[in-house]
Amino acid sequence: MDVDEGDVLNYDVVVIGGGPAGSVAARFAAKGGADVLVLEKRQEIGSPIRCAEGVSLSWLEELELEDIDSSTSRVMKGAILYSPAGHELKITEKLAGDEVGVVLERDHFDKDMARLAVKEGADYMVKTSAVGLIKEDGIVKGVEAKNFGKRFEVRAELVIGADGYESQVGRWAGIYESLKPKDVMTCFQYRLTGIDMDPDYTHFYMGSDAPGGYVWVFPKNEDTANVGLGIQFSRLNGSKTPKDYLDEFIESHEDYKDGEPVDMVAGAVAVSHPPEKVTAPGILLVGDASRIVDPMTGGGIVNGLKQGKIAGEFAVEALNEGRFDEEIMQRYEERWRDKLADKLWRNYMAKETAMQLDDETFDKIIDALSEIDLETVTIGAILEGVKKKYPELVEEFEDMI
Ligand SMILES: Cc1cc2nc3c(=O)[nH]c(=O)nc-3n(C[C@H](O)[C@H](O)[C@H](O)COP(=O)(O)OP(=O)(O)OC[C@H]3O[C@@H](n4cnc5c(N)ncnc54)[C@H](O)[C@@H]3O)c2cc1C
Repeated sequence: MDVDEGDVLNYDVVVIGGGPAGSVAARFAAKGGADVLVLEKRQEIGSPIRCAEGVSLSWLEELELEDIDSSTSRVMKGAILYSPAGHELKITEKLAGDEVGVVLERDHFDKDMARLAVKEGADYMVKTSAVGLIKEDGIVKGVEAKNFGKRFEVRAELVIGADGYESQVGRWAGIYESLKPKDVMTCFQYRLTGIDMDPDYTHFYMGSDAPGGYVWVFPKNEDTANVGLGIQFSRLNGSKTPKDYLDEFIESHEDYKDGEPVDMVAGAVAVSHPPEKVTAPGILLVGDASRIVDPMTGGGIVNGLKQGKIAGEFAVEALNEGRFDEEIMQRYEERWRDKLADKLWRNYMAKETAMQLDDETFDKIIDALSEIDLETVTIGAILEGVKKKYPELVEEFEDMI
């Protein structure tokens, strides 16, 4: 779509950000009959990739996405967890159930999400940045945007902020609480080729290789994987960067040290508890912009998709009722919280504990679990398993068993 300086476009809904959460919100709003425009500041949806591309499969049906073959790089049989001393815990397909993972081709996936939104009638503009919100009497009424240096307006009944971790939309709307350094995971990753690993499993390394986080190895094919780590921001002392930690990890692992990087990615995710508020009159946030990344894993794609669907369907309802006031926005708040908040809180508490564990404790936990026949991978079952060999480790969590 071409625009000229000073143009005013009119839509029911304008979505800022063409990532997975924004595209799913656009898709379900358009499906319900809304006139939707998605603005994406990058010139290509899904690129460059800033992601390890690992997701579980449990959400496909719910999001009517059974056929995402072109977006899937590799289907996993399970996961292997490693302790600092090298104890291993294999979580098999049987154990993982529908939580078993796939490694996506994230750039294809994001484009697929956009394709499905366009199929329902949504319009897209790439290389187009939202630069501010239009507000009238305290209510958001649209966005100011820029395309190839030309400034124009998009007037809309509802603005959906889907602009990711660094969301400016949340700030413009005055929705944001500031993040604590302990709730930010700084990440660094290589796509490493020429490495040796079991390519049917995702691999997770716990302990001081990645303080407050973990190292991941997510296979793309037989000898290539996304090898990265996340480190709690508050544990970085300035002299050693996440890249330094990752280089050290790779150098100290025989299977990886001869690999060559074919790309590298730096980024961050918020691993905070669910925010108090992700709406204001005329505007709502979805995906990373609303800080619903799983605090335990740092994965945000699936939660963003689920919340995006709720946002799109809510948009249609609000349009039909012709209301975008504070009270109706509570409906969206309640629905996404019903779906996601319990697990986010549980995993936030689990993360707070896991971040305190030292290498010796990780060794004991993985050692204990590797000796028993785990039947599920719930927190309760894990604590029960650890209790059998190291009861002193779980004393303070007795009530969770
Ligand atoms: C290194 C790393 C590894 C990760 N690995 C995983 C993983 O394995 N699994 C997982 O589930 N999650 C992972 N995540 C998190 C995951 O990438 C995010 O949760 C996910 O991308 C969130 O989707 P989203 O649509 O909310 O935001 P994004 O995918 O960030 O999309 C936001 C979009 O908004 C656009 N935008 C921003 N500002 C503007 C503006 N002003 N105007 C117009 N457009 C704008 C951006 O260009 C971007 O395209 C990882 C993150 C990092 C940093």
